[in-house]
Amino acid sequence: MSNKARFGIISKMLKLGISYFGSRIQRHVKEDMADVVRHNCNFVVHTFSETDLEFYKGTMKEIVEISHGAGLEVWIDPWAVGGVFGGETYSKFIAQHLDVRQISAKGESLPAACLNNKKFRLFMHSWIDASLEIGSDVLFWDEPHFYLYPLDEMERDLTLWACRCDICRQAFKKQFGYEMPVELNRDVRVFKEDSIVDFLKEMCDYTKGHRAVGSSGHSIKNAVCFLPFKGELGGIMDWSKAARIDSLDIVGVDPYWRPGEKDVAGFVRPFAKKIQELSKKYNKEGQIWILNFRIKKGAEKDVETAVMTAHEEGVRNLAAWSYLGTGCMSYLASDDPQKVWDMLGLTFKKLCDKV
Ligand SMILES: [Zn+2]
Repeated sequence: MSNKARFGIISKMLKLGISYFGSRIQRHVKEDMADVVRHNCNFVVHTFSETDLEFYKGTMKEIVEISHGAGLEVWIDPWAVGGVFGGETYSKFIAQHLDVRQISAKGESLPAACLNNKKFRLFMHSWIDASLEIGSDVLFWDEPHFYLYPLDEMERDLTLWACRCDICRQAFKKQFGYEMPVELNRDVRVFKEDSIVDFLKEMCDYTKGHRAVGSSGHSIKNAVCFLPFKGELGGIMDWSKAARIDSLDIVGVDPYWRPGEKDVAGFVRPFAKKIQELSKKYNKEGQIWILNFRIKKGAEKDVETAVMTAHEEGVRNLAAWSYLGTGCMSYLASDDPQKVWDMLGLTFKKLCDKV
């Protein structure tokens, strides 16, 4: 059997991916995409920030073509767009549109767009249009959330939350019949959760409404990654609310362990189990994200442990953040980025060999 045929068979049984950012120089990206394939990945997640949208759209189209040329499925990620998704970059939209920003319970304007604001949702539609135009196969809705303060502070102080803008206050009053309180309560938590789910549904529906077809000839898919902590603080508490969205295809979470974690398998397993159960119940594809940043020297084996644990639980879509041990970003770099990357590649090879 040819390598290409085998690659095709494995891609149907196992989805193995890596995220990529940091270079927009086409010839370097081409080398890196070949390296991604050599490390046994069959998809790549390209970040598509507001900067990319404004200044690199044509370049990103070339980068998507280069990735397809290497045989990879391409996912596109709204990296920190509006300040409401995961990502280490800035949003110009919230600097330009002050009326769209989230308002804290204490009345301060925050550097994140309100998920209930129509103007922001329309901006996201234009982001989706561009993502499909450059050739995305999967849109990756990474950690959609309301503004987050440091988690321990949020737990201590029930007035540290958002959003309490006029739009949210009006919608809350309509739903619950009383003024939106300043102190976080159960109703506010439910309201925030429902708002995120409603936002996500609108994004997924809008994407499917395009009837666009990706490189593989299949319709464009939507994937979500939940935040891996107690959802009541900023994300979605009840993941099944999102899993019920018809236009959502892939449900995932990123259980990133802390440096020095002694039991990586024990940390990852409950998340993998939960995702696996959810995906079965709602007929979705389950995905687990693997930590590939800030890995300490000598702890590279944890990457293998995490991948194998998720695979043991039945998860067949595994991806890591980010390419080459995230060595290109000092804030997130692993101590020995090449070693982390090679560990991931070898572990992915072990899984491919099982197919
Ligand atoms: Zn709001």
